[in-house]
Amino acid sequence: MAPKDNLTAVLYGINDMRLEQRPIPVPKPNQVLLKMEVVGICGSDVHYLVSGRIGPFVVKKPMVIGHEASGTIVEVGKDVKDLKPGDRVAIEPGITCRTCYDCKSGNYHLCRDMVFCATPPVDGNLARYYVHDADFCHKLPDNMDLEEGALMEPLAVGVHACKRAGVRVGSIVLVLGAGPIGLVSMLTAKAMGASKVIITDLVDHRLNKARELGADFTVRIEKNMTENDIIKKVKSLLGEDPTVTLECTGAEQSVRVALQVTKSGGVVILVGLGKFEMTVPLAGALVREVNIRGVFRYNNDYPIAIELVKTGKVNVKPLITHHFTIEETKKAFETAKTGQGNPIKILIHANPEWKP
Ligand code: NAD
Ligand code: ZN
Repeated sequence: MAPKDNLTAVLYGINDMRLEQRPIPVPKPNQVLLKMEVVGICGSDVHYLVSGRIGPFVVKKPMVIGHEASGTIVEVGKDVKDLKPGDRVAIEPGITCRTCYDCKSGNYHLCRDMVFCATPPVDGNLARYYVHDADFCHKLPDNMDLEEGALMEPLAVGVHACKRAGVRVGSIVLVLGAGPIGLVSMLTAKAMGASKVIITDLVDHRLNKARELGADFTVRIEKNMTENDIIKKVKSLLGEDPTVTLECTGAEQSVRVALQVTKSGGVVILVGLGKFEMTVPLAGALVREVNIRGVFRYNNDYPIAIELVKTGKVNVKPLITHHFTIEETKKAFETAKTGQGNPIKILIHANPEWKP
């Protein structure tokens, strides 16, 4: 019997998340129908719930939430060759046009016609069933589970950041911010050969997690610390200047620290998305030839993220702190919003057969 239950989590507006039944979608020739398994909550999902917008992206009509996801294929379109029913996949949430200059020149993540799950007005995938283009579904190896599959989305951001930074054996890496993105960036930097990693945050529980995951040093940023205090502390703990700084907070103070603390000729990677305009000490960085590079999501990074986990070079499991069912979506988002229970990665299980 064809399944009928397509319980779906829909954001109607600020603090208005509803569960509703939607029709089960039909895959186009190049698409797959997925039974959704695990969907992680990202900071941006919470932002849309609380503020109804991120910069120019505004929730104007009901939008299905969720974009850090894994699923099991139940049906494939007639043109799909590399995937089959039963395959478990990590879902890369941004579909590109494949024909523009950016797509054709290898920067598909910069495609102006990107259609990205749960970035308004595009629907996300926190539902029982969902269709996606087959070439943006990455098959999981047998030794990876569907929770790890959902975590390939943030891990791909960390991979992209470390690739942009050129992290390699001997890199001395400073990560600013120990949220999920800072932590996956730290894990990737270690896997790519960084010899020392130091990480900062405002809160102890995140720094404790960073130490558990292999940080060599941690710095807790206190309210009364000046930029100079932070810079001195980082340099004294490392015994040298970081060659690579991965900024993963978006906070102006942290961006300012990044530009000043990084070794001359080194690299600052801006991952954190903060205020659209900031005041930063730019000249001091340019006369020291500090390379400043932005990061936007990922570009051919899912396969590397999967390889890192498959081969045991990165373990993303300790990032998972909370589990909810799709029926408990509101509660899951409440936990993300309030931070109660010190969440890092909250996972929502869409498969009705999932057992804690
Ligand atoms: P998060 O909010 O969970 O984590 C940010 C962490 O930074 C928190 O633990 C917070 O305590 C810490 N922090 C805040 N101010 C700080 C300061 N001044 N010094 C040190 N630590 C500080 O967010 P996340 O999910 O880890 O994402 C991190 C950032 O990356 C966000 O700005 C997010 O928007 C951005 N992001 C960017 C991309 C991209 O493609 N560029 C992708 C995903 C997320
Ligand atoms: Zn394109």
